Parts: sequence; C-alpha cells; structure tokens
Amino acid sequence: MKTANKKVKAERLVRDALDKAKHFADYNIFTFIDEEGAIARAREIDKRIANGEKVGLLAGVPYALKDNFLSPRGETTASAHILEGFNSPVTATSVERLEAEGAIMIGRTNLDAFAHGSSTENSYFGPTLNSADRERVAGGSSGGSAVAVALDIVEFATGSDTGGSIRQPASFNGIYGMKPTFGTISRYGVVAMASSLDCIGFFTKTPEDMNLLMSITSGQDPKDMTTLPDYYNEDAPLRKAAKIGVIKDFDNESVDADIRGALKSRCELLKSKGYEIVELDMPSLKYALAVYYIIQPAEVASNLSRYDGVRYGFRSNKSKDLDSIYEETRSEGFMPENKRRIMVGNFVLSSGFYDAYFLKAAKARTLIVNEYRRAFEKCDYILMPVSPNPAFRLGEKVGDPVAMYLEDVMSVSLNLAGVPGLAIPAGKTTAGLPIGLQLVGPRRSDKGLIEFARELQ
Ligand code: GLN
Repeated sequence: MKTANKKVKAERLVRDALDKAKHFADYNIFTFIDEEGAIARAREIDKRIANGEKVGLLAGVPYALKDNFLSPRGETTASAHILEGFNSPVTATSVERLEAEGAIMIGRTNLDAFAHGSSTENSYFGPTLNSADRERVAGGSSGGSAVAVALDIVEFATGSDTGGSIRQPASFNGIYGMKPTFGTISRYGVVAMASSLDCIGFFTKTPEDMNLLMSITSGQDPKDMTTLPDYYNEDAPLRKAAKIGVIKDFDNESVDADIRGALKSRCELLKSKGYEIVELDMPSLKYALAVYYIIQPAEVASNLSRYDGVRYGFRSNKSKDLDSIYEETRSEGFMPENKRRIMVGNFVLSSGFYDAYFLKAAKARTLIVNEYRRAFEKCDYILMPVSPNPAFRLGEKVGDPVAMYLEDVMSVSLNLAGVPGLAIPAGKTTAGLPIGLQLVGPRRSDKGLIEFARELQ
C-alpha cells in the first residue's frame, strides 16, 4: 500500500484518487465524494510528516467507505431513500481505527439498499457497473466498494458481509475480499442488517494489505459485545495449509464451467506444490440457502423496524398522523427488496409459523455449524467457488428474486457458521470476466487463511 512520506505527499495521493473517482463517474460507484474534507485531512498529515511527527500505518492512504458505515462526514444513507438526509452523530469503530492510522476517506460507496442484494441493483441511486464489463453487475451488496478498488481509485474499501456481500463483488471484479470470523471487527456504527450474520471486512488488491487492515481494525470494542479479543493469538502457531478440502456437491452442472475449470486447475496446482486435496461430503450445505433466507429476513425485520420516519432521515410529506407517518414513510422510503424481507421476516417469526420456519431454520443452522467443524477435522482449509456464476448482465435477475437469491448459494453458509472466508482472484472466464474462489477456514483461523492466500499468489 502506498503511504505518504516526506517525498510522496498525502495531498498528492488523495488528489490522484479524487481525479480517478471523477474519471470513472459513470460507473456510479460513489454516493458521496468528500473532496474538501479529504484534502484538508491530507494537508494535516503532510504537515505532521514535515514536523517529524508520528503519522500511522495508513498515513495518507485514500480509501472508500461503504455507505452503511456511520461517520459524520456526509450523509449515511445505506443507499436507501428512507435514510436520505441522515447525518450520523457517531463514527463506526472500524472507521475510527482506520483514521487513527492516517487513512483518508475520499467518499462513500453505493450498495444494495440496506445491503439487501447481490448486484447493487437494489440501490435507490441505481446500479454500479462492473469494472470489467459495463453491461454487467458489480455484484453486491458492496458493489461500489469492490469497483472502487478494482478500478484502482483507492487502495482499499470497507464492506459488510451478511451472506456474501464482500466476497461476491470481490470475485465479480477480480480482487481480494475478506469476511472475517464473526466478531473479529466491531460492528458498532454500521447499519445493522442481520445481527447474527453481519461481519465487517475489506476489499484489497493484495493479501498483505488485507492482513494489515485486519490487524488495525480487529479486537475487542466495548461498544460491540460480540467482538473477539484479537485478530489472532500471537502465542498460538498459525494453522498451516497442508490438506485442502473441496466440496463434492459444488462440482455440478449448475456451476459455470469456467468456474469449475478454475477450481480444478487450482487443485492441480496445489497438488503439484505438495498439498493434499481432500474431497468433502457436506450434505447439510444444501439447506444453507433456505436457512439463510429465513434467519436473515427475520433479523432484518427486527433491525429495520427502527426506521419510522421519526428518528432518522426521510419522512413522507403525505403523512397526517402518527400511524400514517410510519406507513407512508416506510412505503415510500424502503426499496421493494427491503419490503419483501420485512414481510418474509415477520411471517417466519409470527406465532403461527415460528416453529415451522424460524425454529427449524435455527436447528438446521446448528447442523451446518457442526458440518464445518467436522470438515476442519479432515482438512486445514477449504477451497470453493464464491458463486455459481460470474458477473451476470444488468437487469438479468432483478425481476426474479429467487434467481437472485440462488446466486448466494455458496456464500451464505459461512455466515451461518461464523467461519472466515477470503475471496481470491482466480483468473478469467473465456469471455474475459473475473473469476473468484474462496478460501474458508475454521473460526479464528483468519490470519492463517491470509497466509495461505499469499502462498497461492
Ligand atoms: N446477497 C445476500 C443477500 O441478499 C447477502 C447480502 C449481504 O451480505 N449483505 O442477503
């Protein structure tokens, strides 16, 4: 990562990033660009460097912030109409930690509203275009962040991953994207989607950068009681990669041939380097998508109930009394996909259906957790696709929610199990679209996972 020093000015780094952001404006990457604020911060850092003061590990490094991270700089909209005009009084812990090391946010990036989606087409501000093919989706929900890094506008970008939102857009754009072990990075100050699944992570161009960002932002936060003590235990040896698992069920006709080819050639490469490939039978994973699309909307319905037109952002001007404030604001302010999830979530939690849906899904989730635990007794890490297809065409799946959900079939089980996953670039399809594969490890093996990615580079 290029940091500022006496010769390379932070202001230069930031201005270059801002120029590139303007150059790629028609990709619809940013919901807000903070030119003035970013330059002012860069000048401060340059002054401190000139005075010989300490400036941090990310001095002057421009980055992009997914627009569901709270910070008083610019509105935090989560790409949803209902949050338009919301200026956060608080700053996300992860943002505080990045900025304490001198990183400079140049802008906020587009996402599927409230991070509901796999293509960034559910954004109130319209879709972000894929970095390799402008007729295709960026992936989602963190499409803007992925494209900002892939087009080299910024060195890194933040993301949130509830069911694939970092790994899938990373793979659609040929870069690294990490979903850490649940609880590794504080979620304080990030718009909640589904609290038992949400993870904070990053998009980078190298595994080394990922390691650096993880070590800076991880660790306990008194404001998020789910946070773990640290990113890795310095006293414990790293989990070495020797036996690599591949999941039998993911090698079938419904997976794009080029992606299967990429997986196969990586396995051959690993074998030639002396790794052992272990075939895994993980029959519970076929329930992961169904489980996810019950648990996740249930939690979404609860988390989105706070947007009532009274406390945050937008309020419909059609409202006449308290009830109609709620009704009109939520009707106008949420995107169709947000509403679909609120309805499904309340349905699966309702007294007549709770046992049949939510409770059953919670039990099946335990099967998935155990299945991963058993798999990691047989292998050190798993290598698998991130999604069954490369980036699809804009508009191709937007009218068919189930087809869109099916794109998440390989990513959601990691969130259900709380295990870490790192999307790595793995070549291109015959049509020239980026292919991504993910490395998966047991809980708390994040650092070993990144080391393994370095070996694969
Ligand atoms: N695509 C998944 C969904 O629509 C995951 C989204 C996410 O990780 N935020 O729910």
